Amino acid sequence: MKIGYGWDSHEFKRGIPLKIGGMTLPHPKGLGGHSDGDVLLHALTDALLGAVAAPDIGTLFSPSDPRWKGADSALFLAEALKRIDRAGYAVVNVDSTLILAAPKIGPHATSIRTCVAELLGIPSDCVGLKAKTPEGMGTDNAAIAHAVVLLEKKTAKRGAIRKTKR
Ligand SMILES: [Zn+2]
Repeated sequence: MKIGYGWDSHEFKRGIPLKIGGMTLPHPKGLGGHSDGDVLLHALTDALLGAVAAPDIGTLFSPSDPRWKGADSALFLAEALKRIDRAGYAVVNVDSTLILAAPKIGPHATSIRTCVAELLGIPSDCVGLKAKTPEGMGTDNAAIAHAVVLLEKKTAKRGAIRKTKR
């Protein structure tokens, strides 16, 4: 098994959509960034990449590369999944914490978990999501995400079962 950890933060900016975990949430401000600023998908992407010691999200998808301007962060997650698959691993579960003053994540938590689970190809009860407010941190104009992932080696046993079935 392998563990991976990722962290990300973006500043709130007026007049852009708020994307979190692949979902667009109703809010007057969105998260600024070169891509769509999806802080949760970025933390998850780095956690997946870190688990297989691959280069991080900023190295693979440079913020100075015009190709990634306004990009859907699901693309970054898909590339990370491709890399862990190539390394012979599969995602077991993920856990994450969002730290932001607003909007309230509670009402959207189930949809975000379902969306992230679909992007990762795992059941939604394998996606943890907590949201906290940044008490005393002075980061009310930013959203922060922490994520951990657990990977397991795709076993020879499973291959053997498939072979027997054939
Ligand atoms: Zn980011």
